[in-house]
Amino acid sequence: MTKFVYGFSEGNKDLRDLLGGKGANLAEMTNIGLPVPPGFTITTEACRAYLDSGHQPAGLAEEIATHLDALEASMGRKLGERGDPLLVSVRSGAAFSMPGMMETVLNVGLNDASVDGLSRQAGGNDRFAWDSYRRLIQMFGKTVCDVPGDEFEHAIEAAKRAKGSDDDLDLDAGDLRDLVDRFKAIFAKHTGREFPQDPKEQLDLAIRAVFESWNADRAVLYRRQERIPADLGTAVNVVAMVFGNLGSDSGTGVAFTRDPASGAQGVYGDYLANAQGEDVVAGIRNTVPLQELERMDRASYDDLMRIMATLEEHYKDLCDIEFTIERGKLWMLQTRVGKRTAAAAFIIAGQLVDEGVIDLDEALHRVTGAQLGQLMFPRFDLSAEPGQLAKGVGASPGAAVGRVVFDAVTAKEKAAAGDDVILVRRETNPDDLPGMIAAQGILTSRGGKTSHAAVVARGMGKTCVCGADTLDVDVRGKKFTVDGRTVAEGDVISIDGTTGKIYLGEVPVQPSEVVRYFEGTLDPGQTDDALVRAVHRVMSHADERRRLAVRANSDTGVDSARARRFGAQGIGLCRTEHMFLGDRRELVERLILAATPDERDAALAELLPLQRADFEEIFREMDGLPVTIRLIDPPLHEFLPSLEELAVHVAVAHERGEDAGRDEKLLAAVRRMHEQNPMLGLRGVRLGLVIPGLFAMQVRAIVEAAVQRARDGGTPKPEIMVPLVGAVQELETVRTEAERIIAEVVADSGVEVLIGTMIEVPRAALTAGQIAEAAQFFSFGTNDLTQMSWGFSRDDVEGAFFWRYLELGIFGISPFESIDRDGVGRLVRIAVDEGRRARPDLKLGVCGEHGGDPDSVHFFHDVGLDYVSCSPFRVPIARLEAGRAAC
Ligand code: ADP
Ligand code: MG
Ligand code: MG
Repeated sequence: MTKFVYGFSEGNKDLRDLLGGKGANLAEMTNIGLPVPPGFTITTEACRAYLDSGHQPAGLAEEIATHLDALEASMGRKLGERGDPLLVSVRSGAAFSMPGMMETVLNVGLNDASVDGLSRQAGGNDRFAWDSYRRLIQMFGKTVCDVPGDEFEHAIEAAKRAKGSDDDLDLDAGDLRDLVDRFKAIFAKHTGREFPQDPKEQLDLAIRAVFESWNADRAVLYRRQERIPADLGTAVNVVAMVFGNLGSDSGTGVAFTRDPASGAQGVYGDYLANAQGEDVVAGIRNTVPLQELERMDRASYDDLMRIMATLEEHYKDLCDIEFTIERGKLWMLQTRVGKRTAAAAFIIAGQLVDEGVIDLDEALHRVTGAQLGQLMFPRFDLSAEPGQLAKGVGASPGAAVGRVVFDAVTAKEKAAAGDDVILVRRETNPDDLPGMIAAQGILTSRGGKTSHAAVVARGMGKTCVCGADTLDVDVRGKKFTVDGRTVAEGDVISIDGTTGKIYLGEVPVQPSEVVRYFEGTLDPGQTDDALVRAVHRVMSHADERRRLAVRANSDTGVDSARARRFGAQGIGLCRTEHMFLGDRRELVERLILAATPDERDAALAELLPLQRADFEEIFREMDGLPVTIRLIDPPLHEFLPSLEELAVHVAVAHERGEDAGRDEKLLAAVRRMHEQNPMLGLRGVRLGLVIPGLFAMQVRAIVEAAVQRARDGGTPKPEIMVPLVGAVQELETVRTEAERIIAEVVADSGVEVLIGTMIEVPRAALTAGQIAEAAQFFSFGTNDLTQMSWGFSRDDVEGAFFWRYLELGIFGISPFESIDRDGVGRLVRIAVDEGRRARPDLKLGVCGEHGGDPDSVHFFHDVGLDYVSCSPFRVPIARLEAGRAAC
């Protein structure tokens, strides 16, 4: 028969899936001899069985009874017995901590009779007993029976007012007894029944409520968003109560074995005398720093220090704990490996290596690319202690300063006039997009990390704080108010997209030390900056371990140089589009308007030297490293004036009787080239096959630049990449011409040129075996591959409905942020397998934005690519994640 209940001495920390995080760690602490009040854990499996069938599985009630008997025996008391009651807490605890689930009911077992017994246990402390009883009714009412919590809180407020005090410690036993009557009335009004007096019924109802809370709306939503499977279930912990509210020799607290904010060594925590656990979190009274405890109760403090050292040694990591002191006796109520800031994660990992607790591989697993990314954003310099206006959700990192504006039109105007602006809205919608683009940062008073504002801002890499719900935003009145202060259009604010904090006025921005280190202006051997030293150490190890090479996407010499300093081992994507903009537009116009092959060739001949110079510069910066250059990809009309503007222009000229001959020809060409779906139109290889000489010119420019570099003593490694190929014949046609040019230009210069293709059209992935016959390398263009697999265009859909898809859980994360493993990823796998089968030495890489996304990097490692390529700024993140993927 399945075992549904585990005593604390039967479990251990590795049984997290079965016992939940809380239960597994309570068991672990019990087994290493720490003082944990006795108790037992009902498994997640029991929860699943209960939720599947709607009733408790056979045998569960008996097992609970057996464990309760054992608990009663060990405590020498019976649950809720009138003379000398045992009380317990009932605590939920899934494998992942999860907001929205039932939390905890303390003091289960109290009733009208046992409340007197509890008082006697405490030496006639009536106040304590009635305080415990009112807490039970309040927590039980709220979490088990859905009684609105504020009714209880109002009743407490009323009692305090009647007493003329604002401190709940001033309520005496009589007041609390009256409060219990009030609470019972509230309970009865909302549930239609009296507060249950039978202790076993209290326990049973609380256990069922924990089970059912697994399916509470908020919990379901949270799981969808965090991609936590829906069928895990939660465990239930039943723990003998210990009391921190017995007087000044008792209390409760939380602590960390190191500073979770800075990573500094030494214990940190908060303590509250004469209180029960939930008071610390609820902020009912002000806590004191843990160090005070040393003065108040030296023996307990020493015990605590010893226990914390034991825990760190045991878990080999920073732990956080909850503890309670009952009349000078210390009890441990919870521990887990603690959350920490990004900086602390690196510093602690480094410390633990120094202390010989973990090795470097393990250190690499203790940090993430996302954390490194946070450390690379500029930060606010808070040394002048700027006044904080409010705090929202940090939805997209960065430090943005600007003048407040309330609508997209003003945002655009002011930005165009050279002002930095922060767009403030209650929430955003697709109409706000132009304003979001124009703004330095976005601030909303509603919505969380998956709101429209948050999703779009992250997509654009723009700082965003959302859900700052203390802000009252008045868009019409062009102002917002917060805590009685008014901030009007034009006032300057500063917002921190990592912490969610909002400041009035301009807070100075500091560059990130970590970026200075990557740029080479901060020497890790010279600085005493603990973070930089820790990052250097972990990065060096990642580089040693990783199998994936990391390249950068870069189109200019400047970006290439920066990418190289950041550790790029080549360029994975050099776009050539920008080389047709600016002054060169005119040449493109001539190319398109050419009436004869001669005119066309003349335009191309003028473009050639310009392109050659662009490539020479890049080859110089990336000397000795591969540079993948993509032939022109976007539709040509993108380089021409807009249809509307041109039409107006021509009409005006006609009106004035002027000659608009050239513009008229251009207008006709633009009309001809106008497309309903440019994304699916005449672009990439299609363009190369339709406009004679265009690709040939680009190939010649690349190869001539490379040969020139080689003559100048450099080692260029050009790789020519043909975009948007869907059929091998397309690639073969381009390749034949390219090879002819290469053979002619390269001659005996020793330059070697590779020809390959992007895999970005689903058909290319599905026919990769054929395409590999004609390609020396594949580079997955996962942006287009994602668009074409899903059949939506990023520019059109991200702001339009992604928030809804995220809310509904159709996406756990935008498929443009992180690769869709099941769909797009499957195409990648197919292409890798078939491509390598056809050509074993096929080079494989990825150049979509996914190349810099941590989770996607692990996927690309797993499928066996040779490299990822991403924006220069994300190169260190990709290096780190590639290292983590390899060990
Ligand atoms: P959460 O996960 O929200 O912290 P917990 O189950 O840990 O919920 O409990 C809430 C508070 O009640 C914590 O401060 C905890 O230490 C305290 N608590 C839980 N069980 C007991 C107990 N048996 N005796 C005393 N305090 C307890
Ligand atoms: Mg807790
Ligand atoms: Mg593409």
